[in-house]
Amino acid sequence: VRPVPFAPRPVPLSPTLAVNEALARKRSEGATVLPLGFGEAGVPVHPALARELAAAADRGAYGPVAGSEELRAAAASYWTRRGAPTVPDSVVCGPGSKPLLYALLASIGGDVVVPAPSWVSYAAQASLLGGEPLHVATAPGEGGVPSPALLADAVVRARARGRSVRSVIVTLPDNPTGTLASEETVRRLCAVARDLDLVIVSDEIYRDLVHDPTRAVHSPARFAPERTVVTTALSKSLAAGGWRLGVARLPDGPFGRALRDSLLGVASEVWSSAPAPMQHAAAYALAEPPELVEHVDRSRRLHAAVAGAVAERFAAAGARVRRPEAAFYVYPDFGPLREALRAGHGVRTAADLTGLLLDRYGVGVLPGSAFGDAPDALRMRVAPSLLYGRDDEERLAALASPD
Ligand code: PLP
Repeated sequence: VRPVPFAPRPVPLSPTLAVNEALARKRSEGATVLPLGFGEAGVPVHPALARELAAAADRGAYGPVAGSEELRAAAASYWTRRGAPTVPDSVVCGPGSKPLLYALLASIGGDVVVPAPSWVSYAAQASLLGGEPLHVATAPGEGGVPSPALLADAVVRARARGRSVRSVIVTLPDNPTGTLASEETVRRLCAVARDLDLVIVSDEIYRDLVHDPTRAVHSPARFAPERTVVTTALSKSLAAGGWRLGVARLPDGPFGRALRDSLLGVASEVWSSAPAPMQHAAAYALAEPPELVEHVDRSRRLHAAVAGAVAERFAAAGARVRRPEAAFYVYPDFGPLREALRAGHGVRTAADLTGLLLDRYGVGVLPGSAFGDAPDALRMRVAPSLLYGRDDEERLAALASPD
């Protein structure tokens, strides 16, 4: 047998999935593990949503590339209710928002500005596509939005190096910091994007999990509608990440229509159409029937309570930590404990600390470096079991469900 004379392109596993795989290995060896690395809600899929999926299980045919009319109309109404009037023709669905983001970056082309810190896959996707991710720091408490003042400078310098910077990603609210940028910051970001001719990709997957329901999410789609793409999914607020269904809202006007055509071209070559039964269930979800609104609300309250309590415990232990404002992550910074951790455990970086937690305690969390950030930070999902004991997660999940 003749050996293959070259190695495949080395592409590491995404850190969130790598920690999952490491935990699965430990579990198969009989260890008890606590998976706090992957971003998943600690509540179950609502039974009514599961019923809708089951009812559509016989839809085996390929559908339109953009998604079914039923789903696009429901997504349009979802965004219209949130202050961004949307027509079904501006909506494209895909098998999760992760592939949709990848296809969008492929369609937009060029280099992309990502917030620092930011979700693990933005920079990795940009690199896979042959672009350069430009990391631009966010201001404290304004996670997910590259600081507008730094953004202009970074783009001008990259362009002077001959780079073609075309887009900037924002995450509202943010993962990993759990913060929500202010209206003022989003407006300033939009002004800079307009001056520099940047497309804004606004990832709003955690939008319905803002802990204080009176706080508004200020989407750039409101301030720069001609250049903002918005994505969301069923994955987080409806705890259905494994179903793989995401939706994108394309900008208004000629650029938006051209981007839609390009996105549909990429989608047609990569996934053809998103799974039809999922699209039917997503249409039901995005129409926001009262039982699902109530379910998301319980999930939001449950995660807010657990995140607040976990953050307090980290603060009491001496870490620097903000009380999360959204989603289900805490992002403590162990800088103040660096000496104690080094002396007690030989831990120098957050990557050392995550290794120790995994090897010794079977706890899976992610180091800040996975998000392009400070070496002393950790991101941890706040499972209800953290507060109420390992074995109680199922009971709590049941409490959060309506039945
Ligand atoms: N965007 C953010 C900020 C995320 O945290 C995640 C999941 O972890 C995704 C996008 C991808 O979600 P999905 O592909 O499940 O829709």
